[in-house]
Formats: sequence, structure tokens, C-alpha cells
Amino acid sequence: PLTSNDLIEEHRICVCVRARPLNKKELTMKDLDVITIPSKDVVMVHEPKQKVDLTRYLENQTFRFDYAFDENSTNEMVYRFTAQPLVETIFERGMATCFAYGQTGSGKTHTMGGDFSGKNQDCSKGIYALSARDVFLMIKKPNYKKLDLQIFATFFEIYSGKVFDLLNNKTKLRVLEDGKQQVQVVGLQEREVKCTEDVLKLIEVGNSCRTSGQTSANAHSSRSHAVFQIILRRRGKMHGKFSLIDLAGNERGADTSSADRQTRLEGAEINKSLLALKECIRALGRNKPHTPFRASKLTQVLRDSFIGENSRTCMIATISPGMASCENTLNTLRYANRVK
Ligand code: ADP
Ligand code: MG
Repeated sequence: PLTSNDLIEEHRICVCVRARPLNKKELTMKDLDVITIPSKDVVMVHEPKQKVDLTRYLENQTFRFDYAFDENSTNEMVYRFTAQPLVETIFERGMATCFAYGQTGSGKTHTMGGDFSGKNQDCSKGIYALSARDVFLMIKKPNYKKLDLQIFATFFEIYSGKVFDLLNNKTKLRVLEDGKQQVQVVGLQEREVKCTEDVLKLIEVGNSCRTSGQTSANAHSSRSHAVFQIILRRRGKMHGKFSLIDLAGNERGADTSSADRQTRLEGAEINKSLLALKECIRALGRNKPHTPFRASKLTQVLRDSFIGENSRTCMIATISPGMASCENTLNTLRYANRVK
């Protein structure tokens, strides 16, 4: 029979894919949909207009994940199968992480942060906010209420291997590892939050800080990882931590030939951190003794989330449906496939 430990290990890593609808620009350019999600856990990449010919592409262009969400899925649905099950983990003294991974423009920020397109500035429906909502529901349950937990939030960005506090005017912060192998982001603002509205305000502050002073908001955010954390403390000591991460865009390649030196360095740094992330998640799933968390700043600051016995993680790979994005989409699916 399975022990409770076996059960935890079995469900330690959840990998999902989410496809967004074709957007206005893609429709204007007459880009064609090459993604089909024929069942709740399968994604197919195929030539347009040949969706019916399932057999021809079945072998190498079909991927299976824990869940696959099609263009009609809502943030609430994606949340229910990805981050929501992890909320309980942090109440049970665990460490949870949820990553959005994918090409720029594929829907990472929409999924994690909420809808910031055009005049819409609604962060209440993103996974950050939905997770916070459930943390405040959970803390009222008798079992957890008696623990007298306090809730805190942090929001920071990792850009070119450096950490910036999004709740403190992008102050640059140092990362230190002490003798006990504890990693600390020195001076990171940890704000106490008492209700979901408190959290929404912090998300807004962080988001405006993230994009301020940039000519193109997406150009900057595509090159940085944003980390939003919900921390539970009991008598000052950490009880559990939920890290929700909007990763830098995984598309590179184009950078290497055309771009200037700075852009190439940024691209190399992003590649390095996404590779390290893959290895760290795989190590978590296989209970490997060695987790190569030092290989990048991203994995270093998330160290405690990769090593604990009660650590769980979830990855949402976001993909664009157009033929023009096919190459990046396949790269995203292959990466997600390796993480499982
Ligand atoms: P990324 O953060 O991966 O660069 P965004 O989340 O900014 O991508 O999404 C790019 C654009 O597509 C935004 O205008 C966003 O509102 C829209 N979008 C993304 N995902 C969806 C979706 N599932 N449904 C509708 N619109 C979406
Ligand atoms: Mg984004």
C-alpha cells in the first residue's frame, strides 16, 4: 500500500500546457492555428487545415501532460488544476512553487498576474491573486486558525542575474548564502497582508515598479523573472512558502546574431537560468541528492523550494497558437516534457 509519503512524491511535480487564442495581430497577419488540444491532457502541433489527420503527426508532434488547457480556458480553471492544490502544501509546512514558462506574448503574465492589456489593469483574476484569496480562506479553517499564522508577501525581479525589490523602488539586493546553506535575499521587503485586497495592492505596486521607466513594458518584462511569494509565519518562524514565478521569455536565438552585447549577455543569462531550473525541478522529482541550484540566481534564491521533503512544484507552459510561433512552441513543449 502507498504511504502518505509516496503519495506526496508522486504528485510533487505537475506540468501543464495552456494555449491562448489567436490574437488580433496574428489574425490580421492571417497566421493560422497549428495547435489542437483533443483531450484534457494532450497537445498536438500540426500543419494548419489538417487537424483531422491525427495519425500522421501523432508520433512526434503530440505531447501529453498532466493537463492541457485550450484557448477557451479561463485563469480560474487553470488555477484550479495547478496552483490551487499547492495552497494546502504551505499550510502543511511545505514549500510550493508555480512557474509560468513560455515565449514572450504566449500568456505568462496574463496567467500569473492578470489582465494588463490595453486599459484593462485587472490583477484580481491572475494566479497570484487567486492563490492569495484561497490562503485567506484556508487560514480561517479551525485546524489552521489555531496555529495563529501570519501572512507576508514579497515581490521581486531577477534581471541579468541581479535581484531587484519590486516593493521598494527596484532597490538592488544582495543574495547571501550562510554557513548553514540558507540563502538570503538581504533587505527584501516582506509586507504583512491581512486580506486579499492588501495583496492586490502589492501586486499593483510591484507591477508598476516592474515596468516603470521602460520604453516598452513587454521588452523589459520578457527579459526578467518576476517572483511573487506568499509566506506563512508562525511566531516569526517560516511555516510555509508559496513562490509564484512569471519567467523571462524562453525565445532566444534571434538575439545571438543581431543584438548588441548587452542583449546577448541577457539572453545567455536567461538560457542559463532556464536550464538550471529544469535540472533543479528534475532533481526534486527524482529525489536526487544533488540539486544544482547554484547554477543561476533564479535557482539559488529558490533553493529552499527545491530541497525540502515537502516541496511541490507546478509548471504552466504557455504557448501561442500561430504557425509563426511554431518553432518556439515546440521548444516550449519539449522543455516542459523534460521537466515532468
Ligand atoms: P507574456 O507574459 O508571456 O509575454 P502576456 O501574458 O503579456 O504574455 O500575453 C500577451 C497578450 O496576449 C496580452 O495582451 C494578453 O492579454 C493576451 N493573452 C494572453 N493569454 C491570453 C488568454 N488565455 N486569453 C486571452 N488573451 C490572452
Ligand atoms: Mg509577461
